[in-house]
Amino acid sequence: MAHDWNKRTKAVHTGIRRSQYGEVSESIFMTQGFVYDSAEDAEARFLKAGPDEFIYARYGNPTVAMFEDRIAALEGAEDGFATASGMAAVNGALMAQLGAGDHVVAARALFGSCLYILEEILPRFGVEVTLLDGTDNAAWQAAIRPDTKVVFFESVSNPTLEVVDIVSVSQMAHAVGATVIVDNVFATPVYSDAIAQGADVVIYSATKHIDGQGRALGGVILGTNDFIRGTVEPFLKHTGGAMSPFTAWLMIKGLETMDLRVRAQTASAQAIAEGLESDGTLAQVIYPGLQSHPQYGLARAQMGSGGTVLAIDAGSKEAAFKLLNAMEIFLISNNLGDAKSIATPPATTTHQRLPDAQKQALGITPGLIRLSIGLEHTDDLLADLRQAIRQI
Ligand SMILES: *Cc1c(COP(=O)(O)O)cnc(C)c1O
Repeated sequence: MAHDWNKRTKAVHTGIRRSQYGEVSESIFMTQGFVYDSAEDAEARFLKAGPDEFIYARYGNPTVAMFEDRIAALEGAEDGFATASGMAAVNGALMAQLGAGDHVVAARALFGSCLYILEEILPRFGVEVTLLDGTDNAAWQAAIRPDTKVVFFESVSNPTLEVVDIVSVSQMAHAVGATVIVDNVFATPVYSDAIAQGADVVIYSATKHIDGQGRALGGVILGTNDFIRGTVEPFLKHTGGAMSPFTAWLMIKGLETMDLRVRAQTASAQAIAEGLESDGTLAQVIYPGLQSHPQYGLARAQMGSGGTVLAIDAGSKEAAFKLLNAMEIFLISNNLGDAKSIATPPATTTHQRLPDAQKQALGITPGLIRLSIGLEHTDDLLADLRQAIRQI
């Protein structure tokens, strides 16, 4: 059975729904709706649709289901719901289960839009949110209360690469019956073992490593069959965050090569981080795969690697801008996990809206540059960085 396969085999074969033509490559079922054999059949399907019975593409679609089954199998999750973007997944996983009076505990170091949902949107609906330093297990212990409903964090935070201890935080959350939601983008499905480590719900922005080629937005919520079909699906099918079949097809094909891409990008990121650190010319090189990283041991235990993203500190905004403008291979953009290497200055882009004091608390210094390592040759990337660093 599929369950015994390694991730790489699952990534190529799981979830396929072949049509009557027996096609090898997965089909794109580019249809918004589905025809019923009879009025009775329509009535029965609206009452309770079987696993391979579809009604409307906002609820589900065969190509989208192939992607959901495949990524769920990779993650070791019972089920998954694919969404139009990573943020539709984060919002869906939170909003589907929260209501006025509920309490959420979350790490404060988060992707800008995740922080916006927690700080700006949820409180408007009467949800109380406590934000804390996600690397501080004692802070989690102090903040999680008997009435805490949800615990939310990025297993590796964007953009400062702080690592949260999934095993310990999940134990604390489960002691009060809270649901643990892990935004696992930086760990990638390749290195993730988040469900085995205690997470109840795992979220990916498929825009990142799953597509891996900068083509489309997408996301997915993974969890138990009960949670996905009983809580997430009713919310998402009525609020419209569904993934398009064409996007699902891109993501299915992305999954087939993800393991090879992510491992190559990680090996490159490790070599580049080591090279830059030993040069000693930068104020800071942050990478969970470096022994100098405060959670080096935790990152190794949790993911077995440092991932595809590192961060460097050029020292000032002026130096960072000079470095960015001097780079010839790295693109100044804001995606990550792409085949193309990308450099992002968070303080002036993704985290621009945060007040200076909050940026400082999060370690988002004016000179910080996030580097997403792509599939180019490691030597070329390191040479590009070194020549750009010499310009500052
Ligand atoms: C990119 C990202 C998101 C949002 O995903 P989109 O597909 O851009 O909506 C959420 N969380 C993290 C950690 C991300 O990197």
